[in-house]
Amino acid sequence: MRLTEDVYLVGGSPSVGFGLSGEIDSHVYCIDGGSELALVDCGMAAGTSLEEILANIRDDGLDPGKLGSLFITHYHTDHAGGAAAFRRRLGLKVGISHEGAEALRTADEYWTGLGLAKRAGFYPQDYVYEPCPVDRELHDGDTIPIGEVALTMYETPGHCNGHGCYLLQGRRKRYLFTGDCVFFGGEILLQNIPDCNIQRYAASVAKLAELEYDAFLPGHMALSLRDGTRHVRAAHAAFEKLLPPKQLL
Ligand SMILES: [Zn+2]
Repeated sequence: MRLTEDVYLVGGSPSVGFGLSGEIDSHVYCIDGGSELALVDCGMAAGTSLEEILANIRDDGLDPGKLGSLFITHYHTDHAGGAAAFRRRLGLKVGISHEGAEALRTADEYWTGLGLAKRAGFYPQDYVYEPCPVDRELHDGDTIPIGEVALTMYETPGHCNGHGCYLLQGRRKRYLFTGDCVFFGGEILLQNIPDCNIQRYAASVAKLAELEYDAFLPGHMALSLRDGTRHVRAAHAAFEKLLPPKQLL
């Protein structure tokens, strides 16, 4: 689904997304840099989800053969469980923040949160999170060109360790991919998991509140193509009053 000249929404669950791919997938975005494409998050690759995402890319008039990179916001299963399958199928270079790299590389059920999330009933008991080699360990401010556009990673831990948001400098617009850090209306996602940390979360949101961009592109639910900064700034305003912002869902 074409969002702008630079960005397409090509995956996401029917319940907390736009019904473009597997049941539990996060939003999956495709960046069109002209000579090269890149994905931001990839969902779980459960069932036929990977093929559905490739079909969506083709239906949007893009060539999946131009996909060169996959950028992961964080290692939670709904965003990154399919990373190894995408990397293998398409020969992608996988990038994630250096703090999140080890969990993706080992697919450890404790650190990815999959074990607890299975116990809580979020995922099928038989789902296997395949370990994924990491080609790029990204640090705060690292910028990667994607054809005519460029993506900068900002370290934003809090929702979990190693969370990263990505700022895209497009042809005419700028975009912030926020993963599970901030959602539409300034909502956030605190969870009862060992690596969720409200103080790191607040510092991350304060950092994002300094950025300027047009479009706000979170990992679930509604997105916003103009005046995108208002969502992060609403979350920041709540944290500044020492209170957690509203919780997603
Ligand atoms: Zn998450």
